[in-house]
Amino acid sequence: EGILEIQNARYRYPHGPEALRGVSIRIVQGSKVALVGPNGAGKSTLFQLFNGMIRPDAGTVSFGGAPIEYTARALRDLRRRVGLVFQNPDVQIIAPTVYQDVAFGPVNLGLARDAIDRAVRDALSAVGLAGYEKRPPHHLSGGEKKRVAIAGILAMEPDVLVFDEPTSSLDPASSEEIMELLDELATDGRTIIISTHDVELAYRWADHVILMEQGMVLARGSPEEVFADH
Ligand code: ADP
Ligand code: ADP
Repeated sequence: EGILEIQNARYRYPHGPEALRGVSIRIVQGSKVALVGPNGAGKSTLFQLFNGMIRPDAGTVSFGGAPIEYTARALRDLRRRVGLVFQNPDVQIIAPTVYQDVAFGPVNLGLARDAIDRAVRDALSAVGLAGYEKRPPHHLSGGEKKRVAIAGILAMEPDVLVFDEPTSSLDPASSEEIMELLDELATDGRTIIISTHDVELAYRWADHVILMEQGMVLARGSPEEVFADH
């Protein structure tokens, strides 16, 4: 079944182009999906549909088999379940210490102190940053900052993790480490979606590829199927 389904979605930015021109996709729970396409294809716009940041002009978006309700309460829940990791970790890292940064979501959810501690500890160990709690995030390397941003999302225990260009601006070694981390996260039924223009990376990593261009889906299927024809 699709954990996320989009049917015939169209979206035009106010005073901007039509960024999505009738997009239909289904994301299967527990899969590793790569959205591949050039700049401006509509990948980030689609990601914003996934967690309700924007609402389609036409078409429907469903999560867990039910259409998204665009109420404040439903959207709060959806944003916890569908975590978005931005391209640039600096926009996501806001607190003076790694602990406070990763705790931000759980604190907002109103969790008790010990539950917050546990969520932070589990998230940091999942990304390989156990012991970094007191460090100021801005002094970390690019790869480490990325991990802090990922831990902050993980601490909310999302079902779906969405990564906009996870390896952009990282050196090859850090990129490799981040993709290995994404593999580790793609367990326990978690669904991982990335955008990339790196065809090689999509081919190696994904079990399902969606090829986009100019606000439309050109092809989708296994990496072998999609890249054999393009
Ligand atoms: P169709 O229903 O178009 O004949 P499929 O049943 O193969 O084709 O796929 C239906 C939808 O589910 C498509 O949007 C496809 O992208 C998506 N899909 C199929 N397999 C997977 C998968 N392993 N991971 C994510 N999405 C998938
Ligand atoms: P991608 O992530 O694949 O690079 P985007 O979803 O960011 O593509 O962009 C799709 C289209 O929408 C592009 O033409 C882009 O210029 C436009 N666009 C993106 N964000 C905005 C915005 N905030 N306002 C107006 N146009 C936008």
